Amino acid sequence: MTVECEKGRRYVNGSIQWIGFAGMGLVVAAYLPQIVHLARARCSAGVSLWAYLVWSVSAAFLLVYAITAGDPVFIALQAYQLVALTCIFLLSRRHKGHPCGVHCGTPATPTPEIVFPSGQPTRNP
Ligand SMILES: [Zn+2]
Repeated sequence: MTVECEKGRRYVNGSIQWIGFAGMGLVVAAYLPQIVHLARARCSAGVSLWAYLVWSVSAAFLLVYAITAGDPVFIALQAYQLVALTCIFLLSRRHKGHPCGVHCGTPATPTPEIVFPSGQPTRNP
């Protein structure tokens, strides 16, 4: 599915590029839950800052390589990965050490408090 050009470089035939963009769509969908959880819950539980920093730098390197190679699928993929990984790294750094209720082992939505006539609040079981 590759085409040889006059300089000996190989390009992916346009008829098969859809599978590359389909794969990229899955990558886009795969990062979203992590980014949404970091942004909404301000929870960095289970996120390795070091790993996301290294992945961000690697995405930058691979983006330069993809641009040099001139492959539109890998250019788009690495550009997205650079943005997504950098977002995850920066949000994790900002919310470091702040796990949400789910990751603390407590309910995500606390049960309502019941205040007895004595004035002592207690949790509804
Ligand atoms: Zn969480």
